[in-house]
Amino acid sequence: MKARYNYRIYPKKHQLEPLAKAMGCARVVWNDALWLYKKAEIEQTDRPKSISSVIITQAKNTEARKWLSEVSSVVLQQSLRDLQTAWNNYFESKKGNRKGKAVSKPKFKKKSSRQAIRFAKNAFTIHSESVKLAKIGHIKMVVSRPLPSDPSSVTIIKDCAGRYFASFVVEVAQPTPSCAKRYPLGQTDGSCGIDLGLTHFAILSSGEKVENPRLQKKMLKRIKKANRRLSRAKKDSNRRKKRKLKLAKLHAKIKDQRTDFLHKLTTRLVRENQTLAVEDLNVAGLIKNRKLSRAISDAGWSKFKTLLAAKCDKHGRELIIVDRYYPSSQICSCCGESGGKKELDVREWTCLYCNTVHDRDICAAENLNKWAGGQSDQYKNGRGASVSLPTVAVRCEASTTYEQLSLF
Ligand SMILES: [Zn+2]
Repeated sequence: MKARYNYRIYPKKHQLEPLAKAMGCARVVWNDALWLYKKAEIEQTDRPKSISSVIITQAKNTEARKWLSEVSSVVLQQSLRDLQTAWNNYFESKKGNRKGKAVSKPKFKKKSSRQAIRFAKNAFTIHSESVKLAKIGHIKMVVSRPLPSDPSSVTIIKDCAGRYFASFVVEVAQPTPSCAKRYPLGQTDGSCGIDLGLTHFAILSSGEKVENPRLQKKMLKRIKKANRRLSRAKKDSNRRKKRKLKLAKLHAKIKDQRTDFLHKLTTRLVRENQTLAVEDLNVAGLIKNRKLSRAISDAGWSKFKTLLAAKCDKHGRELIIVDRYYPSSQICSCCGESGGKKELDVREWTCLYCNTVHDRDICAAENLNKWAGGQSDQYKNGRGASVSLPTVAVRCEASTTYEQLSLF
């Protein structure tokens, strides 16, 4: 099994230029090759076979591309190889030979977005506090945790906020079922229903309400100001570059804070419970509501679920995704009768059948927990008829494994 390990790196001032050059050259090689591929596709001819000799070796002798020889050729070769992989994935996906989400066609790379270059095994070495790259030299690296094995490649990333990262691909031994270390968290018998919301980020069936950090909302004033300032700066000016960086830094900060919050919450939930149930929210659909879209994006429900699924997978927990049409907020969690549809501003209601006073969200979470505990396989609809939906609860398989997730 392959895993990714990311570390922050701090290049010195004199290393920034060679890094930028390498990233620029890799980008140009990618774009040139992609242009050839697209041309071949339109003209319905075969893809050029010896693309690396055309795009790299021959191009180095031309006036327009002679600067390609200033950077490590490994970086350029790797860029081409990545493009070939991306192109093949796209075709395999189009033909239906590839599992999972549809892969879209590779895109041209922009100078203004995230930049990355990849070094193969022969072009880098790892030291205790640095990583040495071909034609660039030692770059200081903060090794936050040790690498489990020798990496096969390293990707150097520069994000929009100007931070640099080294991302290693390592081979991790596939844990066998008998291996004691397979699930390091150990067994528990807890179960938990999780109702996601906006007033509170999550309401647990234990009655706990997890505060919504509303990270973007807190920074919105500053983001708006930065955006305004950016739009007033002249095109291609240094001032514009500076303001763009400032805006990117604000967004990066929010993203980091959100990721941190979601990691802590999901880790705690997975540690404390054997079975977890969440509602299958149609996030893409809900975001279309213009009044709520910002608040929903700010909350990060999708990422929450991805993390939860991946961590459940890693630690042998069961995640149950409850059908989005299951009326979790309508049913009384005590007697199972339907209390009917309620407007969003109704926060509390009393069951007509058993007189229990419910907190709307806690009741919904308790209903979800029933799925987790396997107690519920039918419910009553609005007219009081029993409805059983055997396909309601889907045992979830993580589409992304924990190892594939980028941790920042
Ligand atoms: Zn009741």
